[in-house]
Amino acid sequence: MAHQNFIIAIDGFSSCGKSTVAKALAKNLNFVFVDSGAMYRAVTVYFLRHEIDLTNNEQVETALANIHIDFVPNTEKTQILLNGEDVSDEIRQMYISDNVSEVSAIKAVRTAMVAQQQQLGKVKNIVMDGRDIGTTVFPDADLKIFMTASPEVRATRRYAELTANGDRVSIEDVKANLAHRDHIDSTREESPLRQAEDAIVLDNSELCQEEQLAFVLAKVHEKQNNLI
Ligand code: C5P
Repeated sequence: MAHQNFIIAIDGFSSCGKSTVAKALAKNLNFVFVDSGAMYRAVTVYFLRHEIDLTNNEQVETALANIHIDFVPNTEKTQILLNGEDVSDEIRQMYISDNVSEVSAIKAVRTAMVAQQQQLGKVKNIVMDGRDIGTTVFPDADLKIFMTASPEVRATRRYAELTANGDRVSIEDVKANLAHRDHIDSTREESPLRQAEDAIVLDNSELCQEEQLAFVLAKVHEKQNNLI
């Protein structure tokens, strides 16, 4: 092991339930949970508010230099702060989902976020979920999980989540957004979404949350005991 602390990387397509598993895992193991997608979403909030031209490198670099992202862990849900402002609710809204993949495909954005993510993994035991955690951020993570679920299951879950939060969206819009993000995320030039060779696949189309947690916990224990 190249590092002292234990790092769990969870990657996969949009709305596969990565964060739900990651959160439950972190709570169970008393690890720090980092939602890397929330960071790209917070950057998107800033870029939209300041009308940053994504094709203008100078504007992008200046904006990135002015962005500071913090996570504030609390018992109910982790807050994400963009330059001190709580944007936890705003980052989940549909207009952010509609723009985040274009923002996260920019090389300078990825370089800045990956550096922050690697910093977070230096000292603490962490569970981080995203698209490139096992391939780029922590290629030597102790455990890598790649999550998948059928497109129908994913769209239904995300629709339920959005409407529960009062977002007025149609299931067709949700489906189209997931397909759009998956396409950009897996075809972009900079660290595209793909399964790491040493990742363990978890298809959760037919599994409840307890079953998913039990599956991953068993893998953690096997790793900790050097069984796999
Ligand atoms: O995980 P979540 O769906 O909130 O991520 C939002 C978007 O952020 C993804 O669709 C993807 O474009 C981007 N992302 C990324 N790399 C990560 C995490 C998220 O490019 N590690």
